[in-house]
Amino acid sequence: MLERAGARARPVRRVAELADVDGLVLPGGESTTMSRLLASFGLLDPLRERIRDGLPVYGSCAGLVLLARRVYDGRPDQHQLDGLDVVVRRNAFGRQVDSFETDLDIRGIDDGPVHAVFIRAPWVEKAGADVEVLARIPDSAEAGAAAERIVAVRQGRVFATAFHPELTGDGRLHRLFVRTVSELAADRETPAVGEGTAG
Ligand code: GLN
Repeated sequence: MLERAGARARPVRRVAELADVDGLVLPGGESTTMSRLLASFGLLDPLRERIRDGLPVYGSCAGLVLLARRVYDGRPDQHQLDGLDVVVRRNAFGRQVDSFETDLDIRGIDDGPVHAVFIRAPWVEKAGADVEVLARIPDSAEAGAAAERIVAVRQGRVFATAFHPELTGDGRLHRLFVRTVSELAADRETPAVGEGTAG
């Protein structure tokens, strides 16, 4: 999906690999396991530092859990990257609906709603003043306690969705993210390589 959006995609598992990318996707999976692996590969602090320095990041599902400042229903030893001023509830849709799909209107995404796939997903319980809410679960009879819950956010260059945008073939969210990454990389590259003229 990233390559279709124009990026060169590569896996990041080590600090040296992290140093070499202009943007990072924290994918779905299991946030407690990912947290443990981030700690044992020595990536926690380098990653926190790069996020603080403005690295564009996209977190989906477990990635959103990791990026949050705080987690409800997490494991007590689970680490937070603190890249988003949000409190999330892990496995929030759990008891009612483990996994479900719905159409969402997403701020910043034109040309109609995005079909969103939720798999044991979190939701955002609280969002700080600097967090832009991009999408909420629509209010409907079957939404129950999920109605109006925040499921997509952005804070500066950090994006996160509770759902998995890579599962539907709809590349609009990836393109939005890759555009942010490449604009920033282009800005940085000009002075770094000493090429003075713009354009
Ligand atoms: N429930 C998982 C967690 O807490 C997230 C699931 C997912 O990424 N699809 O990390």
